[in-house]
Amino acid sequence: MVGCATAPPRLSRGCATLADADILIAGAGAAGLSLAWALTRPGQPPRSITLIDRDDKRANDRTWCFWERGDNPFEEIVYRRWADLRFVTAAGRSVDLDLRGHVYKMIRGSDFYAHLRQRLEGVPGVRWVQAGIEDVTESGEQAAIHLADGRTLTARWAFTSLPMVKAVPPGRIWLWQDFVGWTVRVDQPVFDPRRATLMDFRVPQAVETRFVYVLPLSAREALVEHTLFGAERLPVAAHEAALDAYVRGVLGLERFDILDREHGAIPMTDAPPPRPGGAVVAIGTAGGASKPSTGYTFRRIQAQTGAIARNLAAGRPPLAGFAYGPRRFGWYDRALLNVLALGRRPGARVFEDLFTRLPAGDVLDFLSETASVGQELRVLAAGAPLPFMTAMADVFARTLRGSAGGRR
Ligand SMILES: Cc1cc2nc3c(=O)[nH]c(=O)nc-3n(C[C@H](O)[C@H](O)[C@H](O)COP(=O)(O)OP(=O)(O)OC[C@H]3O[C@@H](n4cnc5c(N)ncnc54)[C@H](O)[C@@H]3O)c2cc1C
Repeated sequence: MVGCATAPPRLSRGCATLADADILIAGAGAAGLSLAWALTRPGQPPRSITLIDRDDKRANDRTWCFWERGDNPFEEIVYRRWADLRFVTAAGRSVDLDLRGHVYKMIRGSDFYAHLRQRLEGVPGVRWVQAGIEDVTESGEQAAIHLADGRTLTARWAFTSLPMVKAVPPGRIWLWQDFVGWTVRVDQPVFDPRRATLMDFRVPQAVETRFVYVLPLSAREALVEHTLFGAERLPVAAHEAALDAYVRGVLGLERFDILDREHGAIPMTDAPPPRPGGAVVAIGTAGGASKPSTGYTFRRIQAQTGAIARNLAAGRPPLAGFAYGPRRFGWYDRALLNVLALGRRPGARVFEDLFTRLPAGDVLDFLSETASVGQELRVLAAGAPLPFMTAMADVFARTLRGSAGGRR
């Protein structure tokens, strides 16, 4: 039990002693909060759960977008939805996407944090600690979290979403999905709030894959984000120069205000996620939840944390039997990453092949790893075969060798 008498949901500081909990959660971001929520759903046994984060999680530090058919457990805090999406090729051809029932949704970080705090408020056994974490360790069947202020917390399990250290074993690939977004506001109603741009390749490509997406929040406001998939991150100033050129040159907006800025990077890697082992389990991005070929993470976090809760309730190891989808999709991810990282086909062409030759719903099902065999075959046939076959052969060879080949 935690001896710190602090009422949830406020993060507590300065409590003198901290005793054991059943479960420690290091990092109360998307994965930590989702796990705490999954562990306190009806049907879960009562437990003591301590969430630790250095941040108070009140700022809107990011927005999460994802597509799905139907609803999700956080439907009530979905900030915007778009049932109409378009894709724009490098040559400027705009294609209306046939989403086949998928809806693209946005949840704001600040709404998610507040909502989860509220849901966990009053749940017996849930405690919050605001503190920096120095280290997460395990010995046998006990995990320990060492705080920056010298305190140590112990529990049967510790789940950590603290950022991963970039580690690329031989033969594996690591790209950054690096982005800067502006929420812009204009005087005139120029945006169609029902229709978003998923990818627009009318931006200079340089070595990497670069594109912009535009998510209108109203007729006068939109999130415009410049994104690249590259081996190196781009300085913010270079992202902002590209955004400025896009907003003025492509969107044709001479006068606009920037209401908000978003900056981040997501690892796109086929390196196996860290498995700290024993009583410590990595979750979220740190636990390999970011899809290697797209960087989309939010929905996979829900799948991962839901599986952990179900496994623990059944007395199984937290990740026993868990996979995001059928195993072959892991190979497709690796092949697509290989194509992009090694420049076997320009990213702008790869995504153009997919989104202009097929109903986008097929592509989205494929990327969600829920595609039927027919959809899967259609997606595989839509791409240029040679780069993908070469990439797949390379992926197999790298796996067999377990050693590096080609540039990363
Ligand atoms: C700006 C941005 C936008 C994104 N947009 C999307 C999107 O649209 N769709 C999508 O699917 N994915 C998106 N992602 C990827 C992914 O969904 C998010 O990064 C998501 O927040 C990952 O959840 P997480 O819990 O693994 O990490 P985080 O949410 O980052 O949580 C980690 C927590 O650990 C805490 N922490 C870190 N170090 C310490 C320490 N030493 N001591 C104590 N606490 C610490 C942090 O304060 C944080 O709260 C985005 C990522 C970023 C950065």
